[in-house]
Amino acid sequence: MNGLPRRVAVVGAGPAGLYTAQALLGSDAALAIDVFDRLPTPYGLLRYGVAPDHFKIKSIARALARPLQSPFARFYGNVTVGIDIDADDLSRYYDAVVYATGAQRGRRLGIPGEDLPGSAAASDFVSWYNGHPYAANPLHLESTRAVAIIGAGNVALDVARMLLSTVDRLAGTDMPNHVLHALARSRVMEVLLIARRGPAEARFTTPELREIGELPGVETVVSASDLDDVVVPPDDRNAAGNFEVLRSWAARPAAPRAHRRLHIRFHRRPTRVTGRGSVEALQCADPRGVHTETLPVQAVLRSVGYRSTPIAGLPFDHRTGTIPHDAGRVTDPSGNVLPGLYVVGWIKRGPTGVIGTNKADAADTAKAVLADLPGLPRATHGEAGGLADLLEQREVAYVTREGWERLDRLEEELGARAGRPRVKVADLSMMLAACRGGRTPA
Ligand code: NAP
Repeated sequence: MNGLPRRVAVVGAGPAGLYTAQALLGSDAALAIDVFDRLPTPYGLLRYGVAPDHFKIKSIARALARPLQSPFARFYGNVTVGIDIDADDLSRYYDAVVYATGAQRGRRLGIPGEDLPGSAAASDFVSWYNGHPYAANPLHLESTRAVAIIGAGNVALDVARMLLSTVDRLAGTDMPNHVLHALARSRVMEVLLIARRGPAEARFTTPELREIGELPGVETVVSASDLDDVVVPPDDRNAAGNFEVLRSWAARPAAPRAHRRLHIRFHRRPTRVTGRGSVEALQCADPRGVHTETLPVQAVLRSVGYRSTPIAGLPFDHRTGTIPHDAGRVTDPSGNVLPGLYVVGWIKRGPTGVIGTNKADAADTAKAVLADLPGLPRATHGEAGGLADLLEQREVAYVTREGWERLDRLEEELGARAGRPRVKVADLSMMLAACRGGRTPA
């Protein structure tokens, strides 16, 4: 092996990708790592998925920034693999390529009426309130009084908390100004969280459930009959914790002065979204399909998990929504390892786990890369300007680390002026102008 560093690309600058870059840089191997993202910003789901009021988790950004500050790593933002460059380009320029593209799209329910205006994936609403440059608000908050959220996971609780919070509470976050203004005009009074199974099977975690019960001015409503005959498995501490919180809610006196309400309804399977032109109701059935119920709501958000998008040129298992792999090494449909290709994060394991879960996952994938690198052939187009030349030839306006840091500083300045920690810029052209060093209107 000659002394030149081995070149590794990481596609996706979210937690999984950046933890992998960090694990690779922490090794003794001589490496040059390029991290790509389709957005001008790093941090992926940490920036655009984690709820803005979860400050402690958001602060993980400081740790994730570390690999980008290394002299052995570069950031290529605003580069979409599949449009600006493809998997073959990456394999020509890098000895190893790690795909960390996550799972951005919300899963579908497959019920009639799902595409009516006012019915959307919760992930679209999450992206919007987090200032994702490609997201628009799927809800018309000014004419919506009741929203049904389908699913009993933590994303459903995040979305419910955003809809139920006062704007004063959210003003301490980094939400873009237009999002805060839209939420200030919201007429939403009732949020119905619809779970198809019972309290012992809910996927949300107890601290998140408790948190929503502590929102000022919000009444949390659970029917005592939904809590009858619940069997909590003795070794399931989360289910026991959730059940305690739900029981305490069911025992609370009614709060007629509450300005907003969260109703959690268990054992309801959504069957149809109805309305003339836009959502007017959600129909649900009990698990045996004997009783049906029509809930008058003006919006439906399905929060039933995320799904990954296939990457052209790589295998994809449509059943699991992941890229098949063996300990992080991409495999073909027969299970043979495709040398030099790796996966990490949600596109590897499916859309479960908290941000920190990616750290151990990244360590595993990095271990496979490091074990293989000495035996992998060197990329044919590795040296000199490398991929930057190709991007310039193709007139791709890529964003470097310095560019992102300009946008980062601008968002902090906008925040300081408004007495907020940061104010996110959500408009793509303004983001790119800030990265180039231009000013954007406040
Ligand atoms: P999730 O935890 O997998 O929950 C999905 C929910 O959707 C489940 O209740 C599931 O019910 C339900 N569901 C699935 N298909 C359905 C259908 N056809 N009809 C009705 N309900 C259906 O997914 P998530 O909420 O998107 O969260 C993804 C991951 O991110 C999770 O690991 C989560 O903990 C994590 N996360 C963590 C935080 C945090 O720590 N604060 C915040 C957000 C997300 P069944 O159980 O019956 O399938």
